[in-house]
Amino acid sequence: MSDGDPRRPDPGTSVPPPPPASDADDLRFMALALVEAEAAARAGEVPVGAVVVRAGEILARAHNLREATDDPTAHAEVLAVRAAAARIGSWRLDGCVLYVTLEPCFMCAGALVNARLPRLVFGAPDPKAGAVGSLADVVRDARLNHRVEVSSGVLAQACGDVLKAFFAGRRGR
Ligand code: ZN
Repeated sequence: MSDGDPRRPDPGTSVPPPPPASDADDLRFMALALVEAEAAARAGEVPVGAVVVRAGEILARAHNLREATDDPTAHAEVLAVRAAAARIGSWRLDGCVLYVTLEPCFMCAGALVNARLPRLVFGAPDPKAGAVGSLADVVRDARLNHRVEVSSGVLAQACGDVLKAFFAGRRGR
């Protein structure tokens, strides 16, 4: 399905359609993801935050915990997807939107496909590791069995600034 496809979802399906994009909601939930990123920075973690929302309800919020857990997979998106799936009791995140401050990496983009996430909203691009448009486009690869609707650039400046400030602070130490 391409962007702006006017076709209605098949009424016979039990899978809820992706929630419609709302600029106000996108800003509100990205601001929450940014709060998570700021919490990560205070804890000495690379500041990336994520929030999973379904029908306006926040199912999960998380930030990068790689240092605290010594876990290379403890990225904000993976942690938020796991928590949301546990909360709804299903590995399929039908009807959910994931907000994340930074373009997902290959691992996280793969996790979003595996979760059958309908929609992803991210803030800043990641030209060095991003897999949703920068180095590859994993979530919109027609060869895979699921594709994710993507919005990008939401609060991109603020999302990028928290990362820049973090790394600038580390260099100054
Ligand atoms: Zn990642």
